[in-house]
Amino acid sequence: MTVHQNLIAGEWTGANGVENINPSDTNEVVGLYAQASVDDTKAAIAAAKAAFPAWSRSGIWERHVILKKAGDEIMARKDELGALLAREEGKTLPEAIGETIRASQIFEFFAGEALRLAGEVVPSVRPNIGVEITREGLGVIGIITPWNFPIAIPAWKIAPALCYGNTVVFKPAELVPACSWAIVDILHRAGLPKGVLNLVMGKGSVVGQTILDSPDVAGITFTGSTGTGKRVAAASVEHNRKFQLEMGGKNPMVVLDDADLTVAVEAAANSGFFSTGQRCTASSRLIVTEGIHDKFVAALTEKLKTLVVDNALKAGTHIGPVVDERQLKTDIDYIEIGKTEGAKLAFGGEVISRDTPGFYLQPTLFTEATNQMRISREEIFGPVVSVIRVKDYDEALATANDTPFGLSSGIATTSLKHATHFKRNSEAGMVMVNLPTAGVDFHVPFGGRKGSSYGPREQGKYAAEFYTTVKTAYTLA
Ligand code: ADP
Repeated sequence: MTVHQNLIAGEWTGANGVENINPSDTNEVVGLYAQASVDDTKAAIAAAKAAFPAWSRSGIWERHVILKKAGDEIMARKDELGALLAREEGKTLPEAIGETIRASQIFEFFAGEALRLAGEVVPSVRPNIGVEITREGLGVIGIITPWNFPIAIPAWKIAPALCYGNTVVFKPAELVPACSWAIVDILHRAGLPKGVLNLVMGKGSVVGQTILDSPDVAGITFTGSTGTGKRVAAASVEHNRKFQLEMGGKNPMVVLDDADLTVAVEAAANSGFFSTGQRCTASSRLIVTEGIHDKFVAALTEKLKTLVVDNALKAGTHIGPVVDERQLKTDIDYIEIGKTEGAKLAFGGEVISRDTPGFYLQPTLFTEATNQMRISREEIFGPVVSVIRVKDYDEALATANDTPFGLSSGIATTSLKHATHFKRNSEAGMVMVNLPTAGVDFHVPFGGRKGSSYGPREQGKYAAEFYTTVKTAYTLA
């Protein structure tokens, strides 16, 4: 097998590759991927630093053309890249192709944004002076990504970074280097100058930490765990650099007595179990008012019986495997914790085997949970969901907001009054009415509050807040 190498200063480099294993079939090696050392990472940062002056002054047409070419190629190869994604991460093929299409759309969006860069010209409060307000790229951006969206998250960080004139050192998650390698290869062939985008695959403790410790990295955008996010924050404060964090969630989905039962069940099943519950916007807390509680639990349980857990590439699979053995152990540990805490296991809970060896777990539903249990407070990141019974809307809202996190939230209701009140009072960055808590557009802001996020929003035109710095220039007429 050929080794997929790192890209440093425009050259592919690195010899010994580690295996990328398919969680749907652990006998399958998806590919071999080089591991960058501390010195490789430092060389990548130096290359990005050297490339910044020219790239930050490059024409907007050049940036547009490269980003557009990348978007077009990803779309043209959506089936092949989607299959690669499904093989390395384990989400189902339709989900993986959908994510690939989204990555393409993000590049198309920022190709357009490159042509819309603009500033402001305003009068000075002093006579005969003009004031211009413009945005400039920050410099070298460190991009550190997680395993759960192997192509969309790299796309939504790399595309705006390049659009606004930054250069990049990109470190993908250890478990899913294949899609990252593919989009770096696409951008490289699309004509990026040497050093503008550098790929350094490898360990967080080696590659990631070197990025954190470098005084030459002007900004870090990170998506991953709360623990690592705190390290990114501490190191960034030390270096007086800008940083942006997307971390965990414990997203509530409220179901009110007046909800359309079908809508509520579809939204809850999607929120909790699709993509194997491995989305930071997944909902693992279903907060249900007592009038609809029993009907809702019965209907959701019936729905779970119809969901097929199997190999991600198999037609008809609804839920792919858990991403790896470590995450499967975490999920099983939380199922045990839920039982010990006194929640009732209403469905699932078992590891299952399929034709191919993989990390298959039944969708798991707890009922009679309280919001104080660990399964209601801590992010599990698996197909494990709890139902919390509440008296009325007021208790539902208070319970929904009683969490250290604040990424997304949802409500199923036919009441305009409650929907409006919830949109206004839910302490989350993204609020969904009669929709799953996960599944967002690519052209509008993404992000949360409280323990979920730090810094400006990602995606859409709001991305400029992180990837640029503002300059105010005064000229005597
Ligand atoms: P998860 O538990 O979901 O894998 P992590 O926060 O560990 O979440 O991983 C998210 C990303 O952060 C990965 O690319 C990982 O390699 C990286 N990472 C882990 N440890 C560090 C670190 N000390 N410094 C920088 N990046 C790190």
